[in-house]
Amino acid sequence: MDPFIARELEKLDPAVPFHATTDHLHHTWAKTFFSRPELYIRPRSIEEVQKLVTLARRCRRRLVTVGSGHSPSDLTCTSAWLVNLDDFNRILHVDTDTGLVTVQAGIRLYQLGPQLEEQGLTLDNLGSIDSQSIAGVIATGTHGSSLRHGLLSECIEGLSLVLANGELVRCSATDNPDLFRAALVSLGALGIVVEVTFKARRAFNVAWRQERYSLSKVLSEWSTGLWTSHEFVRVWWMPYEKGAIVWHADPTDKPLQAPPKNFYGGSLGYHIYHNLLALAQYVPRILPWVEWFVFGMQYGFRPGAVVTEAVQPSRQGLLMNCLYSQFVNEWALPLERGPEAITRLSAWLHGDLETARIPFSPKGLWVHCPIEVRVSDSTVSPKPRPFLDPTCRDGPTLYLNATLYRPYLRDPPCWKRYYEAFEWLMRDLGARPHWAKNFTTLDSTELQRLYKEDMDQWLKVRGEVDPQGMFLGEWHCRNLPVVAPLAEEAELPLVERERERRPLGARNAGDGVEWMGDRRWQHAPLSEIENSQKDKADELPADRSSSPSPPATEGSDESYEVLSKGEASILVHGA
Ligand SMILES: Cc1cc2nc3c(=O)[nH]c(=O)nc-3n(C[C@H](O)[C@H](O)[C@H](O)COP(=O)(O)OP(=O)(O)OC[C@H]3O[C@@H](n4cnc5c(N)ncnc54)[C@H](O)[C@@H]3O)c2cc1C
Repeated sequence: MDPFIARELEKLDPAVPFHATTDHLHHTWAKTFFSRPELYIRPRSIEEVQKLVTLARRCRRRLVTVGSGHSPSDLTCTSAWLVNLDDFNRILHVDTDTGLVTVQAGIRLYQLGPQLEEQGLTLDNLGSIDSQSIAGVIATGTHGSSLRHGLLSECIEGLSLVLANGELVRCSATDNPDLFRAALVSLGALGIVVEVTFKARRAFNVAWRQERYSLSKVLSEWSTGLWTSHEFVRVWWMPYEKGAIVWHADPTDKPLQAPPKNFYGGSLGYHIYHNLLALAQYVPRILPWVEWFVFGMQYGFRPGAVVTEAVQPSRQGLLMNCLYSQFVNEWALPLERGPEAITRLSAWLHGDLETARIPFSPKGLWVHCPIEVRVSDSTVSPKPRPFLDPTCRDGPTLYLNATLYRPYLRDPPCWKRYYEAFEWLMRDLGARPHWAKNFTTLDSTELQRLYKEDMDQWLKVRGEVDPQGMFLGEWHCRNLPVVAPLAEEAELPLVERERERRPLGARNAGDGVEWMGDRRWQHAPLSEIENSQKDKADELPADRSSSPSPPATEGSDESYEVLSKGEASILVHGA
């Protein structure tokens, strides 16, 4: 460890552990990005989180919190300090009468589900997987597919965060409400979420059913029951087959019934598909045939020929197998624009530029299947809306997700051209991107235009709770108007900018990229760091300079605004 960090660490309470390692290689689940943080820290208590935040501030380091690393972009990459709450993963309180549950923020959904079930409870809604941490799910606006639900974070009643000054703050609809709305989609840029309180639902089983439709049937039923006849519905569109797999699920009292097994559906099908995708890297024109073969083997070659059904606990039945490493590019648009979006994209992929009205050539371009079609409706709940919620404010939302697999971690050749055209269409239809995913053609100016005052509000709260940019990195600077161009050095001294990205080049890393930050602390003279600490200490309100942080702010006076100017740490010797 850097001797300067070791020296600063000695000034903090030795009774509070500091669990850090120096040789961690971080990567996203899809191995799209890798980075080597200077320290990888796994706190086990709120005091440990407060201590590491204090230490980071004194050492002038940026902090990134990572959950399970399922966001496929460079959002969680850093060369500074990476904090992970996998050891901070307990259920703290369950009230079976009200359904209110409080958990430590690092708990993964697959850990939470079975423990809740023992208490007769479950989450209202799930996305495709349950690998994520609850804080990660909230931070990027994760959603499932149901018009009876909005974002998964709809069930959240309150959050506790450790801010850049080390202060622990609670927020909810009534307590620090602006902070709550900002923290509901925080993108990791507000502080470290340490506890989450949510309202669980009575545990339920779902009866699900899956069958093949023609695309014309999907479009003709679009407004007449496709999305409204069942609580949970998702559609996998097969663009070359002009067909779709329609899956729907409802709560049921029927007895459990395991999903049927067939000889192809398990590991045989998995490996055949993977190798066909790998072959298509060299001969992309086979992709329509791959789609026909793989989806035909799995779901039948004709609409209605094979119907798959099962009854499972919702925590299992709502999930799906996402197979291989992938790029995902998902956008939220008004549900009523779905038929137009699908018709134009379909026309483009089939070379009909007149219908497509997309100003890019699809010549020689072949893409992967499925394009995921999902829905949500965040207008049904009276709960406060996250400032950065990408769903529609005034009606149901459609999510279109252009998935591209990366067989054996190799990027598909169509990647950049496909996403350029897809994103162009999405923007033309007034869509907004899912924050966690691989969108590339937007910048902070356009995202500001898409969010207007909501973005201003989010930025205001963010600036108040983290005025030095301790929780900001290149991803935030690229996509959010966090700072005026060229001003960040002075305004946000702790922000981490990207120095370079290059192929990792390691065995088993495929085309994964190593992201490298600017490590600006290496260039700051020690005297500057020490002065900046002195300045900060001098700013402390007299009555706070050496007292420990209180467990939470009281009332709803948004008191973090005041505290962010000073240090609320756990010093023993002072500095
Ligand atoms: C296979 C797969 C399937 C997916 N399915 C869906 C889906 O169905 N629906 C959907 O909407 N999305 C889906 N996603 C996206 C995924 O839900 C989000 O990327 C989610 O944010 C991942 O959670 P995580 O715990 O991995 O967070 P990470 O990816 O590790 O982090 C995401 C963000 O959360 C922040 N963060 C994490 N923990 C904390 C904390 N304690 N305090 C403050 N900030 C924190 C990070 O700093 C970062 O900004 C999927 C992704 C994959 C790879």
